[in-house]
Amino acid sequence: MDYLPLFVQLRAQPVVVVGGGRIAVRKIELLRKSGARITVVSPELREELQRLAASGEIRYIPERFAEAHVEGATIVVAATNDHDVNVAVSTSARARKIPVNVVDNPTLSTFVFPAIVDRSPIIAAVSTGGEAPVLARRVREQIEALLPQRLGALARFMGARRKTVQNTLGALARRPFWERIVSGIVGTRILAGDDDGAEKAFESELRTSHLTEAASLGEVYLIGAGPGDPDLLTLRALQLLQQADVVLYDRLVPDAVLDRSRRDSERVFVGKDAGDHKVQERINQLLVDYARRGLRVARLKGGDPFVFGRGGEEIEVLTRHGIPYISVPGITAALGAASYASIPLTHRRLSQSVTFVAGHVLEDESLDWRSLAGPRRTVVFYMGVSHLDQIVAKLRDAGAKADHPVAIVERATLPGQRTVRGTLETIVAIARSAAIQAPALLIVGDVTTFLAAETALAAANKDGSMSHGALV
Ligand code: SAH
Repeated sequence: MDYLPLFVQLRAQPVVVVGGGRIAVRKIELLRKSGARITVVSPELREELQRLAASGEIRYIPERFAEAHVEGATIVVAATNDHDVNVAVSTSARARKIPVNVVDNPTLSTFVFPAIVDRSPIIAAVSTGGEAPVLARRVREQIEALLPQRLGALARFMGARRKTVQNTLGALARRPFWERIVSGIVGTRILAGDDDGAEKAFESELRTSHLTEAASLGEVYLIGAGPGDPDLLTLRALQLLQQADVVLYDRLVPDAVLDRSRRDSERVFVGKDAGDHKVQERINQLLVDYARRGLRVARLKGGDPFVFGRGGEEIEVLTRHGIPYISVPGITAALGAASYASIPLTHRRLSQSVTFVAGHVLEDESLDWRSLAGPRRTVVFYMGVSHLDQIVAKLRDAGAKADHPVAIVERATLPGQRTVRGTLETIVAIARSAAIQAPALLIVGDVTTFLAAETALAAANKDGSMSHGALV
């Protein structure tokens, strides 16, 4: 280990920064967060630093650097682009055994600034010892994605209750208690921003902590898995999948997504056929049973749980049984398909609205087909491919033209995604000859010509037969 990582308490401590330019600004911003008393030594000062000096937030010495300036400092930072000055600062500080950092110069420094992930009071620091700052930043980004935004809030919540827990629980019981707080309902609530829910759950945990383990409450995470590409999971979905004891998943959730859950979690396939009430009842029962056993249950659903996903029904059941849950949105299939097939669902020139329709409930009388059949709008039919001919017929009956453009996106965002385009008149035959299968979406409207139109434009431009920007 070339460097020993330490966290230095700088509140109200004197810190000297030599230099008043852009680099100094960055370092001073950081040092101010630590509450240090900052003195800047520099003949010139950037405007933002002048403001800080004027308001008394930093002290300014408008001089060229001299050895005496480092006297009494807790740490010294040299942030000038003048090598001789940097050397002088380094030498003066080292002679007095004051830790010194010369920006971007490990040889002149006795300490380096790490890349930081700030979830105060939790701070993660990454250093490559000055060898490869870009790499340190990359690692920092990865940690950044891993740590929930509100992790610091959780740490503060726990800190504020340490005394109470110390007074209530014996030494041996404390550690398992805090483990439950961190990885159970209290933690989930805080991280989701529900402070009241966390407080209630905490009190309940404390009340029941002396009882047997079975008393601890389970909870359900209703998670949108997105349309299939695992990289489209949200960060919160990932965090909760890493935490869940059991994962209940549908047919639409591919292995690649499932593989992002905790290695030792129990995985339960609850795939169902649309409209099968018995299966849904069984799922509801499983959710309740697992949660009652004190387990953390991830209910992983394709796309978004609240878009043709029965998320609402499952929440009703959980609420009825007093089981805490949190829901995490996912990218619904229409958005995934649109993006990956380059079909903008709305477009100033082509469409001003978009409607999602469940394509298998054709008998639904309340559906206004005339409003779906008009121009300048986009309609996305889910679960529609096996009823394609009926959907087409309904739209035609409602007044849509034979040449109304449509597209089908099959296996959107998954390996082997396919898009076919046509019109209301041609699409049934096209889908049949391409052997389109579920899962697939039917997108209806002028937006489905978008790429085709752009491609034609590009080709025409090459020919020189159409002036540039003719479609704008
Ligand atoms: N809750 C899901 C939808 C469930 S209904 C969501 O928000 O996406 C199931 C229907 O979604 C399928 O019949 C199909 O029409 C559509 N679907 C789901 N995943 C898809 C995918 N990867 N590609 C195309 N369509 C998909």
